[in-house]
Amino acid sequence: MAESNESQGPSKPASDFEPSNTLSARFKNFYRMATGKMSPEGQKLYWEDADQRYSDIDCKRCEKQRDYLLKFSPAVRYMSDNIKKLGGDLGPHNIRCRTCKTGQLGGFDHKYGIMICANWVEKQNMLEDVLTHEMVHAYDHLRFKTNLSPEDDLRHAACSEIRASNLSGECRWSNEFFRNRVLSFTNHHQDCVRRRAILSVRSRPNCKDDVQAAKIVNEVWDSCFRDTRPFDEIYR
Ligand SMILES: [Zn+2]
Repeated sequence: MAESNESQGPSKPASDFEPSNTLSARFKNFYRMATGKMSPEGQKLYWEDADQRYSDIDCKRCEKQRDYLLKFSPAVRYMSDNIKKLGGDLGPHNIRCRTCKTGQLGGFDHKYGIMICANWVEKQNMLEDVLTHEMVHAYDHLRFKTNLSPEDDLRHAACSEIRASNLSGECRWSNEFFRNRVLSFTNHHQDCVRRRAILSVRSRPNCKDDVQAAKIVNEVWDSCFRDTRPFDEIYR
C-alpha cells in the first residue's frame, strides 16, 4: 500500500483506474468496480471521478435555474433591481454555482459575490429562496458598508440574517413543517427566523458561544424583523 510512501515518481504504484474520458474506459472502470476487482487506490479514484462528474451535472443545472430566476422570478428580479439602485451588480458573472463540502446552501462575500451550493440546492424553488436570501445580504452590505468592531459586526450579521430568513421565504410554513413537525403553528415563522439567525451568528469566528449568539439576536430582533426593506411587506 502507498499510504506511508510519500515519495513521488516511479515508485508510486500505478492505479488500475483509467482516466474516464472515453466511454470504454468508463465501462472498464465500472466493470472492475462492480465485480470487486478494483484496487483500493483505484476505488478511491473511481469515487472522486464520479463525484466530479456529478458535480458538473449539478452545476450546469444550477446555472440554468439561476439564469431562469434572474429573468423570471419576481423576488429575485426585485432584489436585483434594488441592488442596482445601491450601485451593486449581481448576475451570472458573480452568482456562482459550486459543489460544497459543508452542509451550507449558499453564501455571500462582498468581494466574491454569491455562491450557491449546487449539490444541496436541487429544486428551482429552493434555489429561488437561497438566492433571495443571499441577495438580502448583498443589499444590506451595500446599505451599510462600514468597518465594524467585532461586536457591531456580529450585530450587523445577526440583523442581516434575520432579514434574509424573514424575506426569502425559506421559513415558509411547509418547508419547515415537514422537517420539524413539533414546531408550533402560531409563532412558527418567527421561531424559524430566530433559530436560523442564532445558528448563523453562532458559526461566526468572533462569536463566543450559543449564549452570546442568542443575546445578540434578541437585542437586534425587534428593529431587524420589522425592517423589510426593500420589500413593502413579506410576500408569502
Ligand atoms: Zn444568511
